Amino acid sequence: MISLKQLTKVYGRGPDAVTVLDHLDVDVASGEILAVVGPSGAGKSTLAQCINLLERPTSGQVIVNGEDLSGLPEHRLRVARRRIGTVFQSASLLSRRTAAENVALPLEYLGVTPAETKARVAELLERVGLSHRANHYPFELSGGQRQRVGIARALALRPSVLLSDEATSGLDPETTRSVVSLLRQLRDDLDLAVVFITHEMDTVLHVADSAARLDRGRIIEQGRLVDLLTDHDSALGRALQPQLS
Ligand code: ATP
Ligand code: MG
Repeated sequence: MISLKQLTKVYGRGPDAVTVLDHLDVDVASGEILAVVGPSGAGKSTLAQCINLLERPTSGQVIVNGEDLSGLPEHRLRVARRRIGTVFQSASLLSRRTAAENVALPLEYLGVTPAETKARVAELLERVGLSHRANHYPFELSGGQRQRVGIARALALRPSVLLSDEATSGLDPETTRSVVSLLRQLRDDLDLAVVFITHEMDTVLHVADSAARLDRGRIIEQGRLVDLLTDHDSALGRALQPQLS
């Protein structure tokens, strides 16, 4: 479970200050996928960076399983960050490392023994359906396969929150669907709270249990997908409707 409470991010100071995230309140339960949508510049990636604490929020809280991570001192952040796995748009794999070696990376940093790392990597690659590509390099993998490796790596430290910033953007519709169905499978099997940032409305419909619309740093609307779709006053629901056909 992850809760954002009055999460605010201001860049710059004084007359140059820009409020990029403005008092956001968001809850994502374990076993739930929340899609965050919004136009370019809305603050989506800034939100992702505040959630995984690569950026410090200016104020407000990021609470994971009951603990506020935003207030932790620097030396405790490294451990706290393990609870949040992040997948990026281009998967950002190391090109000189095989799929297995990429997934092993977070475990190596942690000093996990080689034997345990090997077993864990095999399990993770199996989970994302890539056991047969373990020894391939990123350039030998398709876009969808690279994204699966990125997901496996994000799960290496057994996080309770999975954060995805445009992970399916740039993939063709069929590959997107297969990555989306993998995320739904992982949500169920690992009871993950998933924050799925995207600008693709049709993907929202396929992946999400709930959705939030961000615009100029504010949440304009949020709710369960089933409720949004049946609410005639919901702009988000109306934007999703055409994708149903
Ligand atoms: P896109 O859909 O294009 O990826 P986004 O919703 O992810 O957009 P952000 O990257 O979060 O948008 O940017 C939100 C706003 O914050 C933009 O106006 C951007 O210029 C500003 N911004 C982002 N990072 C910084 C920074 N380090 N310093 C100052 N302003 C920033
Ligand atoms: Mg972005």
